[in-house]
Amino acid sequence: MEPAKHRLPANRHSLYAISGWLDEEVAELAIGKLGIFSFRRGLYVYVGSARRNLRARIGRHLRTEKTMRWHFDYLRPHLRIVGVDTFPGDEGECRLFRRLMEACGGTVPVRGFGSSDCGCEAHLFYVPRAADPIPAGVLAGGTGFPVYPIPQE
Ligand SMILES: [Zn+2]
Repeated sequence: MEPAKHRLPANRHSLYAISGWLDEEVAELAIGKLGIFSFRRGLYVYVGSARRNLRARIGRHLRTEKTMRWHFDYLRPHLRIVGVDTFPGDEGECRLFRRLMEACGGTVPVRGFGSSDCGCEAHLFYVPRAADPIPAGVLAGGTGFPVYPIPQE
């Protein structure tokens, strides 16, 4: 289920966006202390930062067997990862999140998801559209993983 390859993030990148496809609705999933939520079928993009050891952080997020630490850990086992992008840190994870969400026409599925440490509504956004790939270049600016939220059938 893991992607075949992950290119190395460019040096000095400290932001990441992990895109995962949810093939079917998941009802009543507990997200740590946030509560219990349902997740509709579609694409989920999680944005985060790691000042040091970005590769290790991303690698951890991609694994499914681990102790639950971040909100993303609870959703991760249900997702099929379709893209990983990394970005320079200048923009900050909060602005990067808003920029990508707007560019993708996303919405916040769960308030507070991944944003316990800042004032953002969340650091996870949702794109229901199944047919269209996310416009080319939207998530570029990092290592350039294309993100195509089309389920493999
Ligand atoms: Zn934020």
